[in-house]
Amino acid sequence: MAMTWRSPRCFCSIAARRLAGRSTAPRRGLSATGSIAEKSRSECTPHQLYGQIAAVKACSTTAFSRQSAAAAGAGRVIFMGMPPNHPLETFKARLLPTLGDRLRDDPEILAQVAGDASHVEAQAPAAWLGPRDVSEVSLIARVALELGIGLVPRGSGTGKAGGCVPRAADVVVDVSRMNKVLQLRPDDLYAVVQPGLVNQQLDQAAGEHGLMYPPDPASWESCSLGGNIATNAGGPRAVKYGVTQAYVWGLQVVLVGGEVLRVGRQCIKGVAGLAMAPLFVGSEGTLGIVTEATMHLVPAPRGVCTAWLCFASPEAASAAGSRIFRAGVVPRMLELLDDPALRAVRPYVSWPMPQATAALLVETDGCTEESAMQQMQQLCAAAQPDSSQVAPNAQAAEAMRRTRRLVSSSLKHLFPFKISDDIAVPRSQMPALLLEAQAQAQAAGLQASAYGHLGDGNLHINL
Ligand SMILES: Cc1cc2nc3c(=O)[nH]c(=O)nc-3n(C[C@H](O)[C@H](O)[C@H](O)COP(=O)(O)OP(=O)(O)OC[C@H]3O[C@@H](n4cnc5c(N)ncnc54)[C@H](O)[C@@H]3O)c2cc1C
Repeated sequence: MAMTWRSPRCFCSIAARRLAGRSTAPRRGLSATGSIAEKSRSECTPHQLYGQIAAVKACSTTAFSRQSAAAAGAGRVIFMGMPPNHPLETFKARLLPTLGDRLRDDPEILAQVAGDASHVEAQAPAAWLGPRDVSEVSLIARVALELGIGLVPRGSGTGKAGGCVPRAADVVVDVSRMNKVLQLRPDDLYAVVQPGLVNQQLDQAAGEHGLMYPPDPASWESCSLGGNIATNAGGPRAVKYGVTQAYVWGLQVVLVGGEVLRVGRQCIKGVAGLAMAPLFVGSEGTLGIVTEATMHLVPAPRGVCTAWLCFASPEAASAAGSRIFRAGVVPRMLELLDDPALRAVRPYVSWPMPQATAALLVETDGCTEESAMQQMQQLCAAAQPDSSQVAPNAQAAEAMRRTRRLVSSSLKHLFPFKISDDIAVPRSQMPALLLEAQAQAQAAGLQASAYGHLGDGNLHINL
């Protein structure tokens, strides 16, 4: 695969444009009203010049199911006409015998795969493909290269960076039908999975064998492992267990043109040669389409203790985070919620969440319930919260975790046009980051909310 084919946004789209003799200029967003007529001819890409808005669709901003994720970002979908000489009909004729009704270009399906959970404007692609196995993905990639069509891999569409948002001439390769656990080997601590498998389903399958799949993005009920690999996703448990990169042992990837590549290993140790699998982790679908992954699993701790700690300010809560580590406790969850985040999520909580201007969701784990509880006592002694509530059972613990997971969507429900940033700093700089974000927001006359992975030094600053 020639490196000149790489695209910052989608698999082989630049290659496709070059082969088709069209512009490689990036797609520019339409104006706030969505009217292309308001743009001068020189501002438009060729696709915009030939296209027109055929439909605008109002969508939900709260749910992140596969079907509605496309709608969660911009809340509408732009339909553009095809540029002249687009080889879609030839492409369809070549693939229909294999894909049948898993190749579609009707507006209903195109609207569902037009966007993700980011602010990137949803754009209906030329077609949608739902391959079932690696041979179909390989065929699609081969025909796409021959005809100069750009492909955009798609998992569940919960991405927050617009990575799976297509351009009008692109074709979306939706791998959500490839969603099986192919092997689970408890003694060897790994599972071989297809890319469309939902994150939580791997954790549940592992749980049946006393194991756990640690990376737990807040979207874990819907995001796919292929998407997690492509974005190197992390979650609250990353503070102790790390992000997706640490759990990808091996990959099967379909490259530009259809070649099927296997990289990595299927055992704990594998140090010979260059580590190729990590290259694909975090590559946002620019290097190929992941069609199979060997994922590391770990023994599930037998004891878990979850608690909610209240503080007078986010700065006080984040300073407590540093004291926890200095006391020698490594929590498996250390999440911060500030006042606006707590207020946004309160209507949706199913437990008596105490009033506070800042809170930490903390969790410890160990070989036994006693060891998890003992660590929690040490943690609380170091954190010195104004008040604390330890979850009395697994149900209460899950209610606390769910509260944290709902922050993003409940803030979005209140502020549909909020801007959400993802900022990582050394943990000791957290109080300074929080103060600076507040100061800048106030200076700009905006409201700010900060929440997220305090333990990782990674906060979501929302304006
Ligand atoms: C409410 C909410 C909470 C979230 N919380 C977190 C969080 O805590 N941590 C976090 O890291 N993220 C979080 N996210 C962002 C998002 O869920 C993750 O980035 C997730 O990994 C995306 O998975 P997906 O299946 O939805 O991928 P998609 O959105 O479908 O795609 C994301 C990128 O991966 C590429 N891709 C997808 N499948 C493949 C494949 N098989 N091969 C190659 N490339 C592929 C796409 O082209 C695109 O570039 C959150 C999102 C929401 C909506």
